[in-house]
Amino acid sequence: MKRTDIILQERHRDELRKLIVDENGAEGAAYVLLGRSVIGRDPLNCEPRSRYTSFEVIPIPDEDRVSASDRHVTWRTKSFVNLCRRAKEEQLIPGIVHSHPGGFDGFSKQDDKNELELFTLLRNRNGEGVELVSMVEVGGTLYRGRVWVEGAKPPNCERVSVVGQNGISIQGGSLPPGDPAFNRQALAFGDEVNGLLRQLTIGVVGCGGTGSAVVQLLNRLGVGRMVVIDDDVVEVSNLNRLHGATMQDALKKVAKVRVVADEVLRSGLDVGIHPIEGWVDLKDARDALRSCDVIFGCTDDHSGRIFLNRLSHFYLIPVIDVGLALIPRSDGKPGLQEMAARATVLFPGAPCMICRGIADPVRARDEDLKRRNPEEFERQKAEAYVVGAGNPAPAVVTFTTEAATMAVNELLQGLVDYRGEGKWAYNRYRRLSTAEERRQGVKRREDCSICGDLDNWGRGDVVPFLDRVG
Ligand SMILES: [Zn+2]
Ligand SMILES: [Zn+2]
Repeated sequence: MKRTDIILQERHRDELRKLIVDENGAEGAAYVLLGRSVIGRDPLNCEPRSRYTSFEVIPIPDEDRVSASDRHVTWRTKSFVNLCRRAKEEQLIPGIVHSHPGGFDGFSKQDDKNELELFTLLRNRNGEGVELVSMVEVGGTLYRGRVWVEGAKPPNCERVSVVGQNGISIQGGSLPPGDPAFNRQALAFGDEVNGLLRQLTIGVVGCGGTGSAVVQLLNRLGVGRMVVIDDDVVEVSNLNRLHGATMQDALKKVAKVRVVADEVLRSGLDVGIHPIEGWVDLKDARDALRSCDVIFGCTDDHSGRIFLNRLSHFYLIPVIDVGLALIPRSDGKPGLQEMAARATVLFPGAPCMICRGIADPVRARDEDLKRRNPEEFERQKAEAYVVGAGNPAPAVVTFTTEAATMAVNELLQGLVDYRGEGKWAYNRYRRLSTAEERRQGVKRREDCSICGDLDNWGRGDVVPFLDRVG
């Protein structure tokens, strides 16, 4: 049986709560449409898996409701047939959600029977190969899920998680027992947090100064698994900031992903790591990226950021983007006119990196051209159609590592709310020259084709990948 998990948008969880949690304690039900990612090969265990992401919540119309008590809920299936039609037309997965206000944790025999009937109806209408997602809300907070793919009763999903402004809430997985290597961390946040971190698969895109620090910090936090992606090799000029890299690595031009992965393995903390040497939108990296629960964006280019910007919205994967601005003085004398570190959290509902001005589509296009067609890039650069790369940027290990720490702490904030704010900070900007930090507010642009278009949020797999042309 294929492994499955479900991610709900926080706004959908809130909508569902209104629709299916009844103040008189009766069961409630609603429909949901979901996107899907079919992962051929999980990066670390090499098994296929599927992930379902909430796309839209649909109330069951009043005329379809038959009866509800604390033990059951029934409705006519006319609206379910409409759901099946939409699912087929829009290539989404239909789902049903109901509540167990009495707190019964799991699917009942009655649920098995009802869902099999709905699944049969779906298959008769939409044909072979259909899937039906079912979720049950237990006692007003917890979700369990499963996916019907054949007529046989399916096992429960690995977990149902919720992603949004309040962070990541992971439910339904089993927590491994305490590990003595992370005992001191348990003293800070409790054993449960170590268990949560161990469940996570984290992507790190870019393994330079900030990325290599992020990887080592995640390793010491004891995350379950990491996927690291970078297309570069170690140079002598990287050694002032690349954690884990040696002079030998630079002389042999070892891949940066190899260096950070070896450092993780050497620590013996049982953190799985899967290095991918290549550019982030490599076809081979798709399965790995779509398996992640959170991705750190540690690239210094616009093209990579725009790619992650889309990925985050289509697959409901939070992206924590790390930025460092060390801008030399304009008069050419030594010193910096600006030194700042930034951690930006991106998820559906947050202003995206284009709306923030962190990622520039025009510069991204130039970078893509340089990578795909260097000769054409040089020609256009000579004619001043594109902006070429300037001098190498200044870099100081304490600053790159400080930016990495800010970003990894934002992951902790999303999991354990250690600041007691109940939510993520969208954008933290730390001026290193004055040791001051600000939170930068900016609105989503309603006409933004990424964060302003709800049809992207949770859409999952589409052709072409991420609905990108070219
Ligand atoms: Zn039930
Ligand atoms: Zn936007």
